[in-house]
Amino acid sequence: MRDRTKSTAKVRSVRGFETRSKQLPHADRGRPWQNDAMRLAALTIAVCSIAPLFAQVQRFDLVITGGRIVDGSGDPWFYGDVAIQGDSIAAIGRFDRSSASRSLDAKGMVVSPGFIDIHTHARRGIGLDPAAQNYTRQGVTTIFEGPDGSSPLPIGKFLSDIGKLSLGPNFATFAGQGSIREQVMGLVNRPATAEEIERMRQITRQAMLDGAFGVTTGLFYIPGNFTPTEEVIEIEKVAGAMAVYIIPTYATKRRTFSTASARRFGSAKREASRPR
Ligand SMILES: [Zn+2]
Repeated sequence: MRDRTKSTAKVRSVRGFETRSKQLPHADRGRPWQNDAMRLAALTIAVCSIAPLFAQVQRFDLVITGGRIVDGSGDPWFYGDVAIQGDSIAAIGRFDRSSASRSLDAKGMVVSPGFIDIHTHARRGIGLDPAAQNYTRQGVTTIFEGPDGSSPLPIGKFLSDIGKLSLGPNFATFAGQGSIREQVMGLVNRPATAEEIERMRQITRQAMLDGAFGVTTGLFYIPGNFTPTEEVIEIEKVAGAMAVYIIPTYATKRRTFSTASARRFGSAKREASRPR
């Protein structure tokens, strides 16, 4: 994809000029010094006319050169240069560094689309460090919140608050099944009633309308471990019908009971039995 089309054409025409000059009849060639002067003049004109072509117009803002490109398509990697214009990839191929106002030497490195981390707890610290270089410097350019069945609610306000930050990476979220359940019935260990499930479904629907990508569960965390499978299915039906992206709408954890969760279960029981 090296764009040498124009310069090659010009160089050809200059060569053509030389060829034609050699074909001039002997009588038109003049004296030797005149001949040399003419040749020098012709050469000067030729050099002046092609010089700007070699000093290429800077068509791109940035070229990343010499890296191993892994483009995310599943194809094997290949060596190449990536040309950037504004905030978009303008072309992939072979480019001179002079074709852009800035260049980055990526020799020995991998050049790829940004990675997506679908399981982060970034809300704990993103407000303190919105640039989140701990992610971007690893190549992670999109982070997801709301894992383990836990998310802030309502999602609309959460995303609105996050949107006011000068974020480095893209930011997205899931809605947490445990958080939805807790909002409706607290941290109690019993199946939900039909009316409670309907309220959970409404909250889920609103979360999806507000921009959630789906619903996560943490079925060994409280209150996920209090949740019958049928109840989870009712929530996921709502999310599944509304998800529009090819990203799992259902990120979950094994339904086991960890020591940490057991300790939390104790404190939750105390919390649940406290007079209100
Ligand atoms: Zn987690």
